[in-house]
Amino acid sequence: MGQETGTPRVYMDHAATTPVDPRVLSAMVPYFTERAGNASSLHRFGQEARDAVESARAEVAATIGAQPAEIVFTSGATEADNLAVLGVALALERRGRHIVTSTIEHHAVLEACRFLERWGYEVTYVPVDGRGIVDPGDVGRALRADTVLVSVMAANNEIGTLQPVAEIGRIARARGIPFHTDATQMVGALPVHVDDLCVDLLSMSAHKRYGPKGVGALYVRSGTPLTRTQHGGSHERGRRGGTENVPGIVGFGAALRIAREEMDRESARLGALRDRMIREALAIPGARLNGDPGRRLPNNVNLSFEGTDSQSLVIGLDLRGVAASSGSACTSGSLEPSHVLLALGLPAEVAAGAVRLTLGRGTSDADVGYALQALRDVVTGLRQAA
Ligand SMILES: *Cc1c(COP(=O)(O)O)cnc(C)c1O
Repeated sequence: MGQETGTPRVYMDHAATTPVDPRVLSAMVPYFTERAGNASSLHRFGQEARDAVESARAEVAATIGAQPAEIVFTSGATEADNLAVLGVALALERRGRHIVTSTIEHHAVLEACRFLERWGYEVTYVPVDGRGIVDPGDVGRALRADTVLVSVMAANNEIGTLQPVAEIGRIARARGIPFHTDATQMVGALPVHVDDLCVDLLSMSAHKRYGPKGVGALYVRSGTPLTRTQHGGSHERGRRGGTENVPGIVGFGAALRIAREEMDRESARLGALRDRMIREALAIPGARLNGDPGRRLPNNVNLSFEGTDSQSLVIGLDLRGVAASSGSACTSGSLEPSHVLLALGLPAEVAAGAVRLTLGRGTSDADVGYALQALRDVVTGLRQAA
């Protein structure tokens, strides 16, 4: 809980972003100042920056069981998703113009697909069940001779649902179709290994794991066809032009090293807090859990409360010092229920009364108790006002 006097401040929006870990920040600082070289320069300043980028690349690769040469640094997961979808589609244009994805992807994947539709591509959006899980059989049935990419996210950012990525990957691989997964919410939270998951491309982002904003990466399995979409210099082995964000990349590497070291303990701790939060919140009359109770990120709580609306819930919680979200951060300005909640088949009024609370490294048991009381008060107040 925040130390300020007055209203406590409880941050429960870690799926939107996380604070930079102080250990990450101190690793980054020298690369803004005394080691501020351009990683492409030949002199010693450049070599220091290059060495730091390559060490970070090795850390990122080690976190997901990849080779360092398979990591392309980007400005975040949005760019990584765009590079995966557009880059593979362009590279395989002659093979076909059909893509398979799911209805609950992040907008970075969905909008990249919509962009391709405007250029004559066809996209099949595979549905999810009531708990937000994709049936791998549906993916298999959607594949065609002209399918060039399958993209299904590893863990959903709104409802925390974990997808059967490995099963989908095996189906795609048997047909020789590249498989991309957006694993932004999963990397550093749960074990991720690109071979076990059977993926060819995987997106990730630093700021969801206590690293800085504006840096991420795309894993590209060696041999996967990919056309560059950002033109310029020959950075990142010709796969993404632009001077490397050296301090950001250093921070990303440090953040994932720490996450890897602390993963087992931290995911068990968060899972217990999440389960307490869900259990006690479901005791509020008219409460419902969105997503799957078991196959779920350790830090994700997403609930609907009958007779309320998301915006009022978020504002009411904020007035009590609790930072929550109405859905994904990217759509929180809109009053429409999120595409993810609608894809679950929830009645509009249930989707409309949803709130997401995502826990993190700073979350204590006392924070959970405080947030639960705030939730009870807000829900009761909104119902009385109605
Ligand atoms: C946050 C997020 C993104 C976007 O990442 P940025 O680095 O902010 O561009 C993409 N996919 C998922 C699942 C996310 O949670």
